Amino acid sequence: MRIEAGVATDIGQVREGNEDSYLVEPPLFAVADGMGGHRGGEVASQLALETLEARFRASTGTLAEQVRAANEAVFARSAADRKVSGMGTTLTAVQVRGDGAHLVHVGDSRAYLLRAGSLRQLTQDHTLVQRMVQAGEITAEEADVHPHRNVLTRSLGTDPEVVVDEQDVGLLEGDRLLLCSDGLTSMVTEGQIQAILEATPPAQEAADRLVRAANNAGGVDNITVVVLDVLGGDAEQQVGEGSAGGSAGTGDPGHAPPSPGVPGTGGPTAGDPTFGGSRRVVRWVVAAVAVVVVLVAGVTGFRAWVDGRWYVGAANEHVAVYQGIPATVLGLELSHVDLETDILAADAEALPLYANLADGLNANGRDDALTIVDQIRRDLRKQARTARGAGA
Ligand code: MN
Repeated sequence: MRIEAGVATDIGQVREGNEDSYLVEPPLFAVADGMGGHRGGEVASQLALETLEARFRASTGTLAEQVRAANEAVFARSAADRKVSGMGTTLTAVQVRGDGAHLVHVGDSRAYLLRAGSLRQLTQDHTLVQRMVQAGEITAEEADVHPHRNVLTRSLGTDPEVVVDEQDVGLLEGDRLLLCSDGLTSMVTEGQIQAILEATPPAQEAADRLVRAANNAGGVDNITVVVLDVLGGDAEQQVGEGSAGGSAGTGDPGHAPPSPGVPGTGGPTAGDPTFGGSRRVVRWVVAAVAVVVVLVAGVTGFRAWVDGRWYVGAANEHVAVYQGIPATVLGLELSHVDLETDILAADAEALPLYANLADGLNANGRDDALTIVDQIRRDLRKQARTARGAGA
């Protein structure tokens, strides 16, 4: 089985940077859509795919384990570098092998399969609205226009561990796979995507046309697409270092690779002529500088870690979303209110599930905290309905 790949990424019409990244390194293909601040999203999606690629090339573990390694790398960088604290990314990757593909997925980028005239979404979005659709609370059409449709319930790099969706997909000659960030699917309907995929034979041209369609529709977000055509013939797919025919590239070629977030180095060294004289003094100065660097890095790292924590608690007698941890060190509060809701804390605490609200309900990121708030609201509504029903 041979694979022909087309890839296109674009900043769109509105955003100031492209936080999407892609990986076309046969037999591995991926898209990642970063989020979190000015630099955060870009760093997160690139670092995730660089780590995935490195692990894949080194053949360490399964594809899902390689994705979990990418999660750890992004999480560690986020904790170590204040400038990108709290960053995260989606990641949807496919490894073609034998007569099929292995698919791994976290977030709301998507994989589709076009086969015999029908387009099927292979991945399930890890979003709040998708959860609501599954619970029967809203329809898929309502989800498409829901104000919180971008809220992720799962992402890569925002927590020490991540659950990775996995599936095997059998492939047939003539199949066309599409990996894309939500900048495509939020702008272009599945009907339009299918029409473009069906009308455009070369993979690269199809990728370009999909990006153009998203831009024509408004291009509100960064757009990234990878189109993979399954061709006949016995030519073994190229693996690793033998990938002569494969175009390769991590991330937007227009972007410089992220600089490593190493805390301040470059203090005086023993070789510094201004420190000539007693070697013992030099050694003492170097040791002192090292201690200061370690202390500063430790405090900075801790601060960044705290800022990456979220929980739901009570503020001014209302349910509130907090950034930080519910603790005080040396009289210093380690959290602040991010959002105070209109839900009365006492109402929530009356439900057994939220009796410990005052102590703080841990959340996996801000999105997750908002999901918890949403859940509290729904549970209260449900309880109100039940109470009314009982009274009638
Ligand atoms: Mn996006």
